[in-house]
Amino acid sequence: MSITTNLEGFKSQIEERVTLVAVSKRKPVEDIREAYDFGQRDFGENHVQEMCEKQPLFPDDMRWHFIGHLQSNKVKYIAPFIHLIHGVDSLKLLKEISKRAIGSARVIDCLLQIKISEEETKYGLDEDEIDGLLGLEEFISLKGVRIVGLMGMASNSNDDQLVRQEFDQLQLLFSRLKRSIQAPHKMEFLSMGMSGDFPLALSAGSNMIRVGSGIFGARNN
Ligand SMILES: *Cc1c(COP(=O)(O)O)cnc(C)c1O
Repeated sequence: MSITTNLEGFKSQIEERVTLVAVSKRKPVEDIREAYDFGQRDFGENHVQEMCEKQPLFPDDMRWHFIGHLQSNKVKYIAPFIHLIHGVDSLKLLKEISKRAIGSARVIDCLLQIKISEEETKYGLDEDEIDGLLGLEEFISLKGVRIVGLMGMASNSNDDQLVRQEFDQLQLLFSRLKRSIQAPHKMEFLSMGMSGDFPLALSAGSNMIRVGSGIFGARNN
């Protein structure tokens, strides 16, 4: 299967309202070029250095999504061009993103990462923490960031019922915050679902899926 064939498959399979983020981490520039030439514009990376090496090689209409765990001291490298930061889970990080965005005369869109899985490896805020954060004066006064939705990762499990339950939990929180969040923030994007679980995520209400191996093939490093 080629990258183009895989992308055609996704295009015919998912609704237009769903954003497909092609996760190109650890994949060579030629593979990204093939996807770009097919018309794919949203790409996800999870390492700052790798993203910064690839970014200048593509036209400005490319939309780069940072999907990894972002360290505050690295925000400055991606602030000039990043389209959406998916994994934001602290006020400290939001403050740094805001500061660097203002330095680049931008407002940077972010998704808050919510911990929906009990797995130790998963980052994110819980519901109480997100409510607390959104109410903080220190958050409300930030001028360089806009929260535009939520992101979550389900357990890496074959138990569809468990995964479905985790996605449902995130969708419920998304719906609740959609009614209460104050402008300029808004709940527009629900980023959930990867190669192994995107059908479940879509049926639970996701409108942004992050697909790596399903497009580019298995990563062997
Ligand atoms: C790697 C990664 C993906 C894509 O994983 P695949 O299983 O290859 O589709 C999605 N989201 C995050 C946060 C990732 O790190």
